[in-house]
Amino acid sequence: LPLTPDGQTPIRVLTIAGTDSGGGAGIQADSRTMAMCGVHACVAVAAVTVQNSVGVSGFHEIPPQIVADQVRSVVGDIGVGAAKTGMLASTAIIEAVAEVCGEVGIGRGQAVPLVVDPVCASMHGDPLLHAEALDAVRHTLIPIASLVTPNLDEVRLITGIDVVDDASARRAAEALHGLGAQWSLVKGGHLRTSTSSTDLLFDGDVFHEFTSPRIDTGNDHGGGDTLAAAIACALANGYPMPDAVAFGKEWVTRCLAASYDLGAGHGPVSPLW
Ligand code: PLP
Repeated sequence: LPLTPDGQTPIRVLTIAGTDSGGGAGIQADSRTMAMCGVHACVAVAAVTVQNSVGVSGFHEIPPQIVADQVRSVVGDIGVGAAKTGMLASTAIIEAVAEVCGEVGIGRGQAVPLVVDPVCASMHGDPLLHAEALDAVRHTLIPIASLVTPNLDEVRLITGIDVVDDASARRAAEALHGLGAQWSLVKGGHLRTSTSSTDLLFDGDVFHEFTSPRIDTGNDHGGGDTLAAAIACALANGYPMPDAVAFGKEWVTRCLAASYDLGAGHGPVSPLW
């Protein structure tokens, strides 16, 4: 993405998500990705996780009003070209985020596009969303998404569809679009049956496929966050959705190839360039 000349105001993107004390995923991955994409990162913290490379051992939710106030404060002064959501933890936070996004012009059909990464659990299976909040993800969060980017576990939880091949991936993309997302992206990266990784993008009309070589690394913590953040950066730069997804996909593939070891578990996807 184009770099901003010294002294000039860069493009800004807002992430509304959870922190990762281990610095691998969540807001840390988002801000690192945005900085590397030449974009100023604004952050509205929705939850604080207790986390390292091995897993998430707990989290603390920020009061919904404070989450919404962070969004209001940033948009009212700094202004953003795109936004993304990550870990939102609860129904109350999802409802507050949807309400404030509507108020400040973020989301589907509004001036500022919104990438919704419907984070439900960590790769270790540790919950990052209360089970009761799945309905709010389906009926409050996804309907305001310009793009929704679930992995296959999230697809199963949200739509009940088990993606095992191209036909089921297409059904899932249609189901997500049916819930109200303007675009849906079904990420095939967790389908372990292939030497490549194919993501399927759908706008209710046309399917776009994005395939990249599978990078075999255990250091894949925060991959979903990195992809969604890079897509948001491209959208803020005015890319049409398919071009933004192609940019994000290439970005996360390069990051996976350059990821590093950290702690006893999974190192982060976003490298230090
Ligand atoms: N922690 C936070 C705050 C996250 O937002 C996410 C993913 O979105 C994770 C952890 C899990 O990342 P991963 O499944 O890549 O380990």
